[in-house]
Amino acid sequence: MTKPDPRDTELFRGFLRLSSQIGGDILKTQGAGGNTSIKSDGVMWVKASGTWLSKADAEDIMVPVVVDPLVAALRAGDPRAEKSTDFVVSELNSSGLRPSIETSFHAALRSPVIAHYHCVNAIALAVLEDRDAELAARMSNVPDLSWVTIPYRRPGTPLAREIEKAASSMPDVLILFNHGIIVCGDTVEVVADRIDRVAKALSCEPRVGGSADIDALEQIARNSTYHPARDAQSHMVALSKINREIATGGSLYPDHVIFLGTEIGVLPDGQSAADLEAVTHREGRDAPKMLIVPGKGVLLSGTLTAGGEVMARCLAEVVGRISEGKSVVHLSKDDEYELTHWEAEQYRQALDRGSERQPA
Ligand SMILES: [Zn+2]
Repeated sequence: MTKPDPRDTELFRGFLRLSSQIGGDILKTQGAGGNTSIKSDGVMWVKASGTWLSKADAEDIMVPVVVDPLVAALRAGDPRAEKSTDFVVSELNSSGLRPSIETSFHAALRSPVIAHYHCVNAIALAVLEDRDAELAARMSNVPDLSWVTIPYRRPGTPLAREIEKAASSMPDVLILFNHGIIVCGDTVEVVADRIDRVAKALSCEPRVGGSADIDALEQIARNSTYHPARDAQSHMVALSKINREIATGGSLYPDHVIFLGTEIGVLPDGQSAADLEAVTHREGRDAPKMLIVPGKGVLLSGTLTAGGEVMARCLAEVVGRISEGKSVVHLSKDDEYELTHWEAEQYRQALDRGSERQPA
């Protein structure tokens, strides 16, 4: 007799619903960011690399991997833990996709249900120089939840090894500096409840700005490969001086670097996007994927994927939540280099190029 497919259970459907909900909330997940997992009988189902969590309910995006051999590989420094592809249970992997690049930390954490996402409130606090104090103050509102912070490491095995060190204490919540958050629990319901309560505890109001001047942006973009950001909230990056300063001060978290690069352009008054393209072309440089037009809004490169466009919105949501005068810890030049020269990421971006454009 063949074993019933573990996906044919109400438990698994509940897990997919929770995954879709997390994926459908722009304040928690942007594009292909974020991933969830559920463990049962030594097998962990985890989101596939490059897929959108918001589609968990509608498409086959969960990949099965064996947990113990993957954790053993991670502990042993075995390079196969990086992509986790050698740990996929092929006969159950109906989509044929690769597991998420963050699979190894899901395996290292012992809880049966895990949600990791790029909560803009968590990121806005986790990039601050005084993040330990700020996070402690916020998390005191959920005193029943145990939580730890994890120093910044590149996603993949460097981050998973850091998380593995904290796994034995079975934390309910892990806040990843310059990255996001992980919420763990024994059941889908417990994790869903914790996500709601932690979201409230960490919530900060974004700075209000004006609205974008789309006509002016279209003029400035004429004869270039740029267009005004289609998502109205993305323009907030350009509409306040504080937001502009934080956004151009350095890279804040990995997905920004991966999708929008390390340089954000600022168009001074009177310069068109076509002028800027001509200058960067003459100098043999790539033009920035995102341009700030101070006081008017944001222009995005036509080369951006759907996942890239939504990163502009993420940046707007994060910088708008960082209070004026706060010191920010940026990713280092070495951190940026690691992210821009990373084979697993190129795979994720290639998949994203294949995904249809969709609104945030
Ligand atoms: Zn992440």
